[in-house]
Amino acid sequence: MRIAVVGSGYVGLVAGACFADSGNHVSCVDSNAEKVAALKAGKIPIYEPGLSEIVERNVKAGRLDFSTDLPAAVKTSKVIFIGVGTPEGADGGADLSAIFTVARQIGQAMDAPRIVVMKSTVPVGTHKKVTEIMASVTEHRVQYVSNPEFLKEGAAIADFTRPDRVVIGTDDPMVATVIKELYAPFTRRNERILVMSPASAELTKYAANAMLAARISFMNEISHLCDCYGADVEQVRRGMGSDSRIGDAFLYAGVGYGGSCFPKDVNALAAMGRAMDEPMRIVEAVEAVNRELRARFANRVIQRFKGNTQGTKLGAWGLAFKARTDDVRESPAIEVIRLLAKEGFKIRVHDPEAMGTGGLELKGSAECCDDGYDVLDGAAALLIFTDWPQFRTPDFDLMEQKLAGKVVFDGRNLYDPQMMADRGFEYHCVGRPHIPPA
Ligand code: NAD
Repeated sequence: MRIAVVGSGYVGLVAGACFADSGNHVSCVDSNAEKVAALKAGKIPIYEPGLSEIVERNVKAGRLDFSTDLPAAVKTSKVIFIGVGTPEGADGGADLSAIFTVARQIGQAMDAPRIVVMKSTVPVGTHKKVTEIMASVTEHRVQYVSNPEFLKEGAAIADFTRPDRVVIGTDDPMVATVIKELYAPFTRRNERILVMSPASAELTKYAANAMLAARISFMNEISHLCDCYGADVEQVRRGMGSDSRIGDAFLYAGVGYGGSCFPKDVNALAAMGRAMDEPMRIVEAVEAVNRELRARFANRVIQRFKGNTQGTKLGAWGLAFKARTDDVRESPAIEVIRLLAKEGFKIRVHDPEAMGTGGLELKGSAECCDDGYDVLDGAAALLIFTDWPQFRTPDFDLMEQKLAGKVVFDGRNLYDPQMMADRGFEYHCVGRPHIPPA
């Protein structure tokens, strides 16, 4: 099938590459000419494991191309996917300006009926607005499908090609059949295709993200109580997660969630509730708890070095909002580092993949280092923000040699507190009893 994917970011590029890999001809369109030029030159603008190989293979096979020419892609494609960004707007709701621009451009370019598939995360009711916009500029039939994306950055290829489920929001069975056909290569093992109304599909995406975010915030509140009562949040997590009704995913306490999805999607769901005079009290609390974690983490460091923050050196590991991505959007690391820099700390930071994106965000609040151990030279403490695998089993002897103070603030609970104490580290983790260094 010939398809177009508008927006070549984390979602659009992965979707385009995977659809091409299963034999379709895909035109990936993006308004960012620099990004398109890079993609044409074989450079992948994001870090996503396995993506570059798939892109290379399909470009070579002539099934995948990149362009800024949206009308040309619309004219040659039977199905057009939209995967542009829907960032948070000023009122907390989703900013749909890119969606509406693209909808208008697609409508204007249509010279025959087309299936338009929304992969971007958009508030409930967007299907009506987008259909209206397109209908106002074309006489051809638009068959709209809401098809929210559930991939995780860092595991995007695996998630796209082996999805837990594919949600197809349409009232038209013929259109559902076309979209099912596109996903058939990825759903052969377990045919978890859920066809539902467009509004239900739109809400499913927000409800799923808010539920996952809620589990994280809930666990962080439990970790605060663990601190008060001397319980261990890791033990509590295992005790809870082994209940099959609860499950063990997304129950980790730490420095909180970030990224381009959870914060904005939780806020957008709350905004949808406000718009209907149906306050989403749980959802509002999820975000409030998460937001507060960053200042809480920074304050623990500030209190530890009280009266001595000016010029004190700190080393930091991790800028990305989670491991295996270079995405630093809404990353807790960025906010905590900024707060600490304001207090006069001199921070050096390392991230295996996110130094480019993170360095731009930090704008001088910290110095980026290529080597993870260089950030420890003369530092009074190490701060850990991201759970990259290489931070899980570091060279503790080298850490000891390089750090001026054997102090670690771990926002991911990566190490065993007893082991750290035995090695003589003053180890500050989240929701686990403090064991004084030996
Ligand atoms: P992104 O910022 O990485 O990519 C968006 C792309 O759209 C950019 O390359 C941008 O240049 C392009 N774009 C913007 N306006 C355009 C226009 N008018 N015409 C053509 N291209 C345009 O965003 P993303 O992370 O891929 O997210 C896209 C959507 O998918 C969002 O709604 C997001 O919430 C949702 N989503 C993201 C993820 C994720 O993990 N990143 C997962 C599921 C769903």
